[in-house]
Amino acid sequence: MDMEIKENLNMVETRIRDACSSCGRAADEVKLIAVSKTKPVSALEEAYDYGCRDFGENKVQELVDKYEVMPKDIRWHMIGHLQRNKVKYIVDKVFLIHSVDSLRLAQEIEKEAAKKDINVNILVEVNVAGEESKFGTTAGEAVSLVEQIAKLPHVRVRGLMTIAPYVEDPEENRRYFAKLKQIYVDIIHKNIDNVFMEELSMGMTGDYEVAITEGATYVRVGTGIFGEREYALI
Ligand SMILES: *Cc1c(COP(=O)(O)O)cnc(C)c1O
Repeated sequence: MDMEIKENLNMVETRIRDACSSCGRAADEVKLIAVSKTKPVSALEEAYDYGCRDFGENKVQELVDKYEVMPKDIRWHMIGHLQRNKVKYIVDKVFLIHSVDSLRLAQEIEKEAAKKDINVNILVEVNVAGEESKFGTTAGEAVSLVEQIAKLPHVRVRGLMTIAPYVEDPEENRRYFAKLKQIYVDIIHKNIDNVFMEELSMGMTGDYEVAITEGATYVRVGTGIFGEREYALI
C-alpha cells in the first residue's frame, strides 16, 4: 500500500479548505479532481479507497482502459485535447469534458450524443494566457463560441476551463484566473438558453490555492496527489 497517496490527499484537501476559508468561500464549493494520467490502476484504487470519486485523464485510450476496470461510481473528467475521431469512444463514459475548444469538436460531440440519446456536459477551454503551445479558444472568441455551442441540443455548456502557464510563483497566474472568471460572469449576464454557467475548472498542483481565491469550482491536481509523472522517452 502506498500510504503517500492518502497523506497527499489529506494535505491537498486541507489546503483547499484553508484556501476557501481565507477568501470566505464554503469548502464544498470547490471539488478536487485527482489527475491520474500515466498512473497505474493501483494508484487510482488507493485514491478511490480514500474517497476520491472524480478522476481526470487526458488520453482517450487510457481513460477507457481505466473506466473498464475501476468502480462505476467514478466521475471521469476528460481534461486533455480531444480529437474528433475519438469522441465516440468516450461520450457515454465521461461525466464532464473540460477541453472543448472549437465548434467542430462540439458538433462531433453533438452527433455522437444524439446517436446514443444522451446529453453531454462540457466546459469550453479558454487559452487565457494566449500561450502558443496551448489549446483553447481565445479570450476574445470564448463568448461567441459558447453562443454557438448552446444551439446544439445534446451538448450542455457547464462552464469554462483554463490551463495556466507553468510558473515558479503561482501569484503570476492570478490575473489569468481572474480573467477566466470575468468571461464566465460576462456569459452569465448574457442569459444564453441551454448554457449553465456553474463551473470554473482552473488550478493545478502549483497554483490551485490562487485559483480557488479567484473562484475555481474544480481544481485539477495530479503531481500533488500521485507524485511526479514519468513519461516514456519514445
Ligand atoms: C496534467 C494536468 C493537470 C495536473 O497537473 P499537475 O501539475 O500534475 O497537478 C491538470 N490539468 C490538465 C489539463 C493536465 O493535463
